[in-house]
Amino acid sequence: MGDKIVLWDKRTSLGVSVIEDCTVSSMVKTLSKCPHCGRAGIKRRRSKVPAYKCFKCQGLFDQPTLVTKLVTTYETSHASGWIDLRDMLSGAQLRELCLHPRSQQSLRPLVWQKFEAAVEHSGTPVMLNAVNSSERRVVGGHTDATVRVRVGQATFRSRVLEEFGAICALSGPALLVALEAGHLYSYAAAGRHHSGGS
Ligand SMILES: [Zn+2]
Repeated sequence: MGDKIVLWDKRTSLGVSVIEDCTVSSMVKTLSKCPHCGRAGIKRRRSKVPAYKCFKCQGLFDQPTLVTKLVTTYETSHASGWIDLRDMLSGAQLRELCLHPRSQQSLRPLVWQKFEAAVEHSGTPVMLNAVNSSERRVVGGHTDATVRVRVGQATFRSRVLEEFGAICALSGPALLVALEAGHLYSYAAAGRHHSGGS
């Protein structure tokens, strides 16, 4: 608790806030994978047979392999400190501000000083004082993270808060558990990527 969190939707920054509360729980997820190569980059085809194609190995098949996995979920409350940063920084810019810019995980430690500088030098800088002052330093170190979420266009903020509510930056050991959830979201990203035709 007390960690700063930056939310984005891969295309753009959404906002920044401070985590007030975090609930950790478990959930069983079913993942669809390619039966040939075991990877998740598959797409259901509307009119062709076989119904599925793997974009990684180009394999064709009627039924994907279903894999169930127990994932750890994090649900955070972060509404009160929310500062809107929509369209301020691109996804590419945010990546470069991460500790590991090439990371595929959905939870990524952010270099806060770099983030502050980028906000300051953006076209429409905002004051981050509120976030900085409300942050409570967690004993043993704290973690800043950039988290990718799926949100719609219109009511993105409320949806971030109610639907996303999840996946937060946590300090210390919990971040190791967060990597499990990261796998899940990289799968989701692959699905969207392919449905976008790119
Ligand atoms: Zn495959």
